[in-house]
Amino acid sequence: MKLQNKVCVITGGARGIGESIGRRFHQEGGTVAVWDVDEPAARETAAQLHGSAHRCDVSDRDAVDAATRSTLEAHRRIDVLVNNAGVALAGPSVDFSDADWQTSIGIMQTGVFLCSQVIGRHMIEQGGGAIVNISSINASEAFPMRLAYCAAKAAVVAMTEVLAIEWADHGIRVNAVAPGVTRTTLVQKGIDEGVIDVDRYLARTPMHRFAEPDEIARAVVYLACESDASFVTGTTLRVDGGWSAQGWIF
Ligand code: NAD
Repeated sequence: MKLQNKVCVITGGARGIGESIGRRFHQEGGTVAVWDVDEPAARETAAQLHGSAHRCDVSDRDAVDAATRSTLEAHRRIDVLVNNAGVALAGPSVDFSDADWQTSIGIMQTGVFLCSQVIGRHMIEQGGGAIVNISSINASEAFPMRLAYCAAKAAVVAMTEVLAIEWADHGIRVNAVAPGVTRTTLVQKGIDEGVIDVDRYLARTPMHRFAEPDEIARAVVYLACESDASFVTGTTLRVDGGWSAQGWIF
């Protein structure tokens, strides 16, 4: 059991990669607090994991404060934070709206700042913890039509490194996972909208398939586990079937 007695907050934990992380954390003995804007879905997932559900829009400081308070009321402590909430708003940069920019940056960049700061203060008082941020291969590999998404995911890597060096002396490790395309509703939306060309993506991927959410979850468990990843901080672990290593023509 890698997370025995650990209280773990997962933002965007109601479905997709976040739900899979919750399932793995539960199997590893963790207590899962599911934070999501979709409260009914969060409740359903939390019930399956014998955890708690907290309505939270991670881009809103008051909501993050309130969810932190209700999580601490329910479980007394927070040992692990996974900043996973995300949206995939795509479109030509020349027409990208202010609203879509602000939504993307608000959730995936400001949200990581707010949750890390509010829960980080608690972890500092508590004497330690682990934060795992979900970035993307798009932090370093540009996809067209995803200006805000790529910008936010690159910022997540930068924030991971800054927080890791600032908080190492407080016993807080901060790492990130950069998944390749993973089978979730977020990706299905991209396929339906025609912004993911499945055949070409798979041809370019050395392992010729998408990731399954559980494959991302297992990397997150490793980084969250204080014994397995005891000397790992400030790193971004790519889980992408070799996508980022690929330099050959297709
Ligand atoms: P998903 O759409 O299946 O799930 C995202 C969850 O985040 C949903 O439950 C949604 O309600 C929640 N959410 C959205 N806005 C929120 C907000 N403001 N506050 C709180 N919760 C909010 O997506 P997913 O594919 O599971 O993606 C999870 C994370 O993984 C995202 O950060 C995404 O960018 C990242 N990622 C996904 C892929 C992929 O291919 N699926 C690849 C790389 C990175």
